[in-house]
Amino acid sequence: MKKTLSLIIAVIITLSSLTLISYAETPNISMIADTTNVNVGDVVTVTVKVAKDSNLCSVTLDVIYDKECFEVVKDSMHATEVMGTTFNENYAANKARYVGTLERFLKNEANLFSIQFKVLKRGGNISIEAIEVYHIDDVERKEVTTAVNNSLKDDTISIACPHTEKTTETTDATCSKEGKKVETCKECGHKTETVIAKLAHTPKDIVTKEATCKEAGEKAKLCTVCNEIYDKTAIPALPHNMKDIVIKETTCNEEGIKAKKCVICGYIADETYLPRLPHEMQEIIIEEATCIKTGKKIEQCRNCNYRSIEKTIPILPHTMEKDVIIQEPSCTEPGIKADICSFCDKTTNITTIQATGHNYKNGKCVNCGEAEPINFTFEIQEPSTKRIRCKDGIILHTKITGKLPKGAKIEWSANNSNFNIEKSADGTELTIISKDNGYTTFTAILCDADGNELAKDSVEMYSKSGFFDKIGGFFRGLFGLSKIYEN
Ligand SMILES: [Zn+2]
Ligand SMILES: [Zn+2]
Ligand SMILES: [Zn+2]
Ligand SMILES: [Zn+2]
Ligand SMILES: [Zn+2]
Ligand SMILES: [Zn+2]
Repeated sequence: MKKTLSLIIAVIITLSSLTLISYAETPNISMIADTTNVNVGDVVTVTVKVAKDSNLCSVTLDVIYDKECFEVVKDSMHATEVMGTTFNENYAANKARYVGTLERFLKNEANLFSIQFKVLKRGGNISIEAIEVYHIDDVERKEVTTAVNNSLKDDTISIACPHTEKTTETTDATCSKEGKKVETCKECGHKTETVIAKLAHTPKDIVTKEATCKEAGEKAKLCTVCNEIYDKTAIPALPHNMKDIVIKETTCNEEGIKAKKCVICGYIADETYLPRLPHEMQEIIIEEATCIKTGKKIEQCRNCNYRSIEKTIPILPHTMEKDVIIQEPSCTEPGIKADICSFCDKTTNITTIQATGHNYKNGKCVNCGEAEPINFTFEIQEPSTKRIRCKDGIILHTKITGKLPKGAKIEWSANNSNFNIEKSADGTELTIISKDNGYTTFTAILCDADGNELAKDSVEMYSKSGFFDKIGGFFRGLFGLSKIYEN
């Protein structure tokens, strides 16, 4: 039992000591430079040191530096607290290796070694890397190996370059690509890049797709320098070019359809009904009406078979012929006239026509031949004397009673030339003046307008114009004593 307990304790101690080993601190190794503010050709002394209580036994360290920037000054390696030191300046392309082994472990702060670097070019770095470190664990007094492959601390010495001399390389900006200004430090090669902003495009408005009435188009800007197309924007679709169309003609039986149609793309809108047309009615006579009976008719549409019901055509008025002579009047008998329908012979307004009366010509009616009744008298008025002295005269008068026919004329004649004669303008008087001795018969004839004799009368006058009568007459004429008797 006692043996078992002591075994358990031994295991616990072993476990706890393992735990202590794992917590053992890596010795604090660091590096310092005497200066970092240097010019080319200056020397920088770098010292690697160990902090207090490092318990360091041995160490393998690489000093890593840029061979373009630094050159290890020959035989500048100077080990201080260390026995058994090797230093290989050309361990690798850019490494120098230091291996140091101590007689005892280091308890106090100490410098391990120092090394001089000649600055060939500023801008380089010097760092250390611990490859293998041995130290004594402070609790157990036991050697512990710490193998590390990276820097123990961030111990990097940087020799800053002021980048005073620079070369500048410029790539001009275009409208499609940013430009670049690269400044390179002539000493360290450090590059600084500055971006030069793109130039503005040289735009031109273009239409990348024409708008139609079906689809929106697209416009954009085209850079005439780099051909980049950008700022694309829509062009609204064009309005349709709508025209009225008839999709279906309207008739008197059916409604039609009209609409608007785009003449470009055929888009149809606004369909509306066209009202039905009225029937175009045409009258069809089935049976004509007359003045004695009604007729029949219907109305039928010219364009379809629509028919009205049969309608009655009212009786027509009579077609009266006015004043139709049924019997002509004669000179003495009246005639008959009436109004007669030319279709049905219906007779109205029967009236008599006055007898025409005779139409006499040359004493006879030209119509019925009846002799014209004498209804006037015609004679030569009896003269106051029938013996007329030489150079004296008398006026013979006609005497008419009643009415003479129209255009009647009186002709005078003498059966010899014992008297000088002169007729009055209307022919009703004849002035006779004694000239030669002897009897003379004067005749007056009444004629109608056509020269037909209607009546006549005569008178015998004596011209007292013997030899001595003529001498007397001469003297009476000389002294103005000749006389014309008025009757
Ligand atoms: Zn520089
Ligand atoms: Zn451009
Ligand atoms: Zn259209
Ligand atoms: Zn119709
Ligand atoms: Zn009739
Ligand atoms: Zn008659």
